Amino acid sequence: MTSILSAIDYPTFKTKKLKVFIKRDDLIHPIISGNKWRKLKHNLLQAKAENKNTIISFGGAFSNHIHALAYACKVNNLSCIGIIRGEQEYQNNFTLSWARHWGMQLKFVDRKTYKLRSDANYLKDLQQQYPHAMIVPEGGSNALALEGVGDVITELAEQAEYDYLLTPVGSGGTLAGLIKADNNKHKILGIAVLKQQGYLTDEVNALLGKDQGIFDNWQILNDFHCGGYGKYKTADANRILEFINSTGIPFEPVYSGKMILALLDLIAQNYFSEDSTIVLLHTGGIQGLGGMAERGLIDPSLWPVPEGVTDNT
Ligand SMILES: *Cc1c(COP(=O)(O)O)cnc(C)c1O
Repeated sequence: MTSILSAIDYPTFKTKKLKVFIKRDDLIHPIISGNKWRKLKHNLLQAKAENKNTIISFGGAFSNHIHALAYACKVNNLSCIGIIRGEQEYQNNFTLSWARHWGMQLKFVDRKTYKLRSDANYLKDLQQQYPHAMIVPEGGSNALALEGVGDVITELAEQAEYDYLLTPVGSGGTLAGLIKADNNKHKILGIAVLKQQGYLTDEVNALLGKDQGIFDNWQILNDFHCGGYGKYKTADANRILEFINSTGIPFEPVYSGKMILALLDLIAQNYFSEDSTIVLLHTGGIQGLGGMAERGLIDPSLWPVPEGVTDNT
């Protein structure tokens, strides 16, 4: 399933003589958030190839991955179990209600147990408890995920010539998949959406595994998290909203919106030379607006949730 690439018309891009395109992975599927669809694709194929009947994975109460996984399992006739971090009070929230509606079994664990989600012994026990299940890590980021994300690069090769590719970075799986498939052809910039000190670079290298040394045309930019995961100031939100209103493209403030802020700041710093072509990867995540509206964090009349995201029965 190829996602479209469209040019963005925005006054600053013209003044700075930049061409900016956006790869609309948010439109790849009406329900499954863009990069989560890409990351799950080969995991689900593998589960079927191994005759597994269940997928188990991990996430927070507002997780795009949990939301996408629940729907993907439903349409693939697989059972699924979501191990959810604490927060049982959110069990009827937007994201988890949909996940349950699509058949996901939710298991709430305390934060201490949730911290064990990549611990070898914990995973071994879990696998023994569910021998017919495939366990997928938080965010869906594993070696199989990289393969699916790599399709973005293959599709882009047919769609445009470009110098830079920008993506938001959460767990690093998407960025790692892009880096691997691109094989040093373009400059790839990951915009960290959470506050950290370089650990994300290690995560990406771990996902790249033995190939990591080959790739040197990428970088994670750490100055655009706006205070941490899910955090932002009113001024940040207003800049994203201005961009949404000017371009007509939906963004949310947790992932794709921070990529936009990074782009605008980098352009203001003359980071990109004249006549550069930049591709933004819209990783989706618009379902997250549903939960944010529910908690009163955003005004849904300002942050339009496209049809299909809320009404998907
Ligand atoms: C999960 C997610 C990301 C981050 O992807 P990683 O592979 O975890 O780095 C970016 N954007 C959206 C919308 C997401 O849901």
